[in-house]
Amino acid sequence: MSRTNSKGMMRAPVRLLVVFSGLLIAGMLVLRFAVLPHVDARLNTLHGPVSQPVAANVQAFHANTFVADMHADSLLWGRDLERRHQRGHVDLPRLRAGGVDLQVFSAVTSVPRGLNYNRNSSDSDSLPLLFIASWRQPSTWFSPKQRALAQAAELVRLAESAAIKLVLRRGDLSAEGLKALLALEGMHALNGRAQALDELHEAGYRMMGLTHFFDNEVAGSAHGVEQYGLTDFGRSLLPRMEELGITLDLAHASPAAFADTLRFAKQPVVVSHGGVRGTCPGPRNLSDDQLRALARNGGLVGIGYWDGAVCDASIAGIVRALLYAIRIAGIDHVGLGSDFDGTISAPFDTSGLPRLTAALLDAGLPQADVAKVLGGNLRRVLAGNLPQ
Ligand SMILES: [Zn+2]
Repeated sequence: MSRTNSKGMMRAPVRLLVVFSGLLIAGMLVLRFAVLPHVDARLNTLHGPVSQPVAANVQAFHANTFVADMHADSLLWGRDLERRHQRGHVDLPRLRAGGVDLQVFSAVTSVPRGLNYNRNSSDSDSLPLLFIASWRQPSTWFSPKQRALAQAAELVRLAESAAIKLVLRRGDLSAEGLKALLALEGMHALNGRAQALDELHEAGYRMMGLTHFFDNEVAGSAHGVEQYGLTDFGRSLLPRMEELGITLDLAHASPAAFADTLRFAKQPVVVSHGGVRGTCPGPRNLSDDQLRALARNGGLVGIGYWDGAVCDASIAGIVRALLYAIRIAGIDHVGLGSDFDGTISAPFDTSGLPRLTAALLDAGLPQADVAKVLGGNLRRVLAGNLPQ
């Protein structure tokens, strides 16, 4: 009797373990293949006609032009970027269809809950579930730096398996075909440690935004609580960033951090994705004075494709912001910064980029100027900043 009892007592926990494991596996499958694609599709959307033909001569001009986009968050969603998807804005087939030569892939590593443009603290983080749902290793579940390293490793693996070149040094910009550059959205991922800069550079990062949605150890954010300038720690990092060939990104930076950085930066900086207050007032969009300061620095602003950047998120609205930025900063200081896959609604996905080229030509911009906006300016800045 005692034997039967002990057998019975053994069986119950084993059965429980089997049931628990089954539920866990079922839960992980549902998260990965149902919940995550659903959230991705709901947050990264399109509006307006999905495809619209472009004249053959415009298509030919676009195909022969170096086309570069300064900001897409496509790595975040754990999508297989080698396959063409019905959701989101960017994958390799659609980049090729859109005639893109260089895509900057930005790694998002922390997003406060209740995200807004005006005031966010660093107290909360909505990303653990996304990193669990996308089956990333447990080290990434609660660590921004590990999230940055994981997304870098994913892009490196993609570059090894697919026909895409990871740009690490100047010469890589001249490689044939599609190229990718790795960017960090917010230097909170350094966790206040200067040494992390070298680790992330080693992992492939060649562009870094000072801040994302909250103030951090490096600088204040345009959407932070205090919105302070560049900290002493942040200032101490600038020479090393320039030495390593990491381009500084002032998107999301507070006005004070923007001004401080331009005072100390020796190399051109970018504002990878944003808008201009001249066509769309808002805390993250650049004033005319900021545009002029950016031009003096030799850098450039990437105009985004979403409502918060251009107020009118149509192709006409994007062209209006581009032309305004060109008028104030000059033709050498403006580029494209879609924010594709950054939880936005865009008027086209990356395969529709020739439509923007057509609209810029229709607006009367000469081909040479359009080529600068489409990618020539970013190529110039990166060629000057990247290591040999
Ligand atoms: Zn952003």
